[in-house]
Amino acid sequence: MTSNKPVRAFHLRFGSHEDVEPFKNFIQKVLVPKGINQIILECNMSFKFESHPELSEGTLNKTDAKELAALCKRNGIRLIPLFQCLGHQGWGGARNSILKHYPEFDETPHIPVDAEWPEFFCPSWCPLHPDVNALAFDLMDELINAFDADAFHIGMDEVFALADDQCPRCKGKDRAELFAKAVNDMYDHLVNKRGVQMYMWGDRLIDSDETGYNNKFEADTFGTSKAVDLIPKDIIITDWHYLKHEIFPSIGIFLEKGFTVIPACWFDTESAVNFLADSQRQARELGADDRMPGMVMTTWHHWNKEEFERFASPEKLDGEMRELAETIDIISSKLI
Ligand SMILES: [Zn+2]
Repeated sequence: MTSNKPVRAFHLRFGSHEDVEPFKNFIQKVLVPKGINQIILECNMSFKFESHPELSEGTLNKTDAKELAALCKRNGIRLIPLFQCLGHQGWGGARNSILKHYPEFDETPHIPVDAEWPEFFCPSWCPLHPDVNALAFDLMDELINAFDADAFHIGMDEVFALADDQCPRCKGKDRAELFAKAVNDMYDHLVNKRGVQMYMWGDRLIDSDETGYNNKFEADTFGTSKAVDLIPKDIIITDWHYLKHEIFPSIGIFLEKGFTVIPACWFDTESAVNFLADSQRQARELGADDRMPGMVMTTWHHWNKEEFERFASPEKLDGEMRELAETIDIISSKLI
């Protein structure tokens, strides 16, 4: 890592020009006092891409990005844009703008748009389509430049559409090798060419049976996990687990393989505290504290003006949001 300070990272999805001012206030009035020093800003297709204006699904623009980046910099916050690569190119059978405009990139074009979980989770782009990376690199470059970012998160969680039987390029191929190829293609662009640090979610790299998570979302049951040995070890793994577990073996596994790993929690305070404590224990026992530098606090919430303002007044919070605020306070206090 670039700093010896513990990482106290806050993740949110955001892509609205109209709500930039409330977001800035939220950063200053809530995140800075809580000690947050990284923001993982999940933009996906919400940015007003100038290279591909037809793909923009939101209103966040280059000026907004520059203002947010400057505000974060002034407050000692590292701003890391997140753009979902490979998977999560839509929800259920519904395609996002990439697959709507470039249906040839769709790994599973035969899946109807009204398909729903559990029949179908969400679409992926085809990692072997010869033109898909050029588009992804254009979009990532715009985000890196707009946010003046020195790190980039490529997402890549919950990829379940891969090596489809009907994809002429991927049919019959090994899912771990395909997944690793996608990671390595992104790495080559981001790290080797752009010189930024690369983050990704860890779930597809974790063997569900080996770790006992027994959950196809937070660990792999689909055949991608062997990719963990086929990708560079200087990728920062954000390892999310939101359910209660006695132990979180993936933290130790990532550390033993040489990765830097940052556990990622959600709103549940008890789960988050246990997860952090177990991660710290494993890092200590492996002599790898420097590669387990903190925690990511994720939020899966529709942030807008009202929600940013509500969060700034703790007495107005209830339920999941109240617990999220408490979790952030507690986790931040344990990362000193
Ligand atoms: Zn394919």
